[in-house]
Amino acid sequence: MGVTSYEANQIANALATSVPGAAVILPEHPDYKTARLVWNACFDKRPAAIVRCQNTAQVADTVRFARKAGLLLSIRGGGHSLPGFSTNDGGIVLDLSPMREVRVDTDARTATAQGGCTWADYDAATQQHGLASTGGMLSGTGIGGLTLGGGIGWLTRQCGLACDNLLGAEVVTASGEVVWASASEEPDLFWGLRGGGGNFGVVTSFEFRLHPVQQIHGGFLVFPFDRAHEVCRAYREFVVELPDELTTLLSFANAPVDDSFPAELRGQPALFIGGCDLGSPPAAEERLRPLRKLGPAADFYPMTSYTDLQKAFDAEYPAGQRHYFKGGMVAQFTDELIEAIIEHIRVRPSQMSGLDWHHMGGACARVPTESTAFPDRSSAFIYNVLGNWIVGAEDEANRDWARRFALDLERLGGSASYVNFLSEPVAGTRPRAVYGGPKHERLTDVKRRYDPSNLFRLNQNITP
Ligand code: FAD
Repeated sequence: MGVTSYEANQIANALATSVPGAAVILPEHPDYKTARLVWNACFDKRPAAIVRCQNTAQVADTVRFARKAGLLLSIRGGGHSLPGFSTNDGGIVLDLSPMREVRVDTDARTATAQGGCTWADYDAATQQHGLASTGGMLSGTGIGGLTLGGGIGWLTRQCGLACDNLLGAEVVTASGEVVWASASEEPDLFWGLRGGGGNFGVVTSFEFRLHPVQQIHGGFLVFPFDRAHEVCRAYREFVVELPDELTTLLSFANAPVDDSFPAELRGQPALFIGGCDLGSPPAAEERLRPLRKLGPAADFYPMTSYTDLQKAFDAEYPAGQRHYFKGGMVAQFTDELIEAIIEHIRVRPSQMSGLDWHHMGGACARVPTESTAFPDRSSAFIYNVLGNWIVGAEDEANRDWARRFALDLERLGGSASYVNFLSEPVAGTRPRAVYGGPKHERLTDVKRRYDPSNLFRLNQNITP
């Protein structure tokens, strides 16, 4: 429900004095129509005000204002939240999108990025120096939501999760205080920020460790869907002995209607095996051989630029469509899972829908599990059921398909424990199930300390 115009006026006046200098977009503002939109069109909400913050002081002012006024508060980074957490009806959206500066320290091999950056911003700055940290598979996702939930991407096996590369963070807590969290300062908060989502405050600045990523050997191979059994089994074998240099992803999706694809594949159901190899080109070519021997219908190797690979699938996920994702983790890629996946893909109500099957392990698995809030590092795979469609009248059919698909994967060993890939708010006893008892208890302690009144509750919420 929206606010009355009287309330809206009150909010406008109060924001002007409480958050001096910030751009406040109210419902009557000409930009409101577009500023209120988020990536997932299932969420068509009308906040009372969108506050575009340009610095940490304005973020702190906005937090204090929302708390005192008792208004709902959404934090918006890249706007890619699947459950639509970065918007609300009748409350405040604290929009970090003006805060997108990235500073690179090449000697220390670190980058400091403001909280509103996307991975496109981050990679553009760091790749100028041949450096990178783990970001998402696409470039438009915010560094904020992705890192705080864990963060998997093309460098997961080489460099760990996005949150594993976090060295420190400037955080505005629920009281409006600004703190620096790192291994040595506010260590419990720092622990919670790495996997616990946006529960504890607004991160205005992230400091990441950088790795040399000069040239990659990346790209993807494409196979027609009627070879799905054979390709899935071959992929299962392929990943068993892979060295850390190579991160891969198996994806079920329709091939784009694009001249670069063979005519018989265009618009048809297909399997994509994507990869990013940081080894030498000859070693990477050699590693790819078993998959090439299968005879892909299209071969888009090698791409040599990391940023090109990270943008390769952007066009398939534009803002403004409807989505319901349901992801999780699983130890093994069994025959039963392969059967279930193929059957669910066959009956999907929308040809835009699909599944991503990410191979984990490598550097990510070597981080001690208790050192961050991220729930599980032992699973070999993270999957994501991707419900994508356009028309609102088809919401239920598509959500229902994704839920049934995910339930089957859970029945066959999966667990819905990766918060970044869950379209449903995780409520009740579910957060405990996601994180496991001890981690959930520690997260609850951190929440009580930094946000006792649960101001930051539009997230996969840890209740204080
Ligand atoms: P927003 O909608 O801006 O924010 C979501 C929530 O994150 C906020 O409500 C808030 O709780 C929190 N948040 C964001 N920024 C901050 C901040 N600076 N301080 C405090 N809290 C903050 N995940 C992966 O791990 N790997 C992928 O490759 C990947 N690809 C994706 C591709 C697409 C197209 C989409 C839609 C999602 C993808 N995700 C991926 C999931 C993604 O990590 C989450 O949706 C994440 O929450 C998006 O972050 P955001 O900043 O863009 O979102």
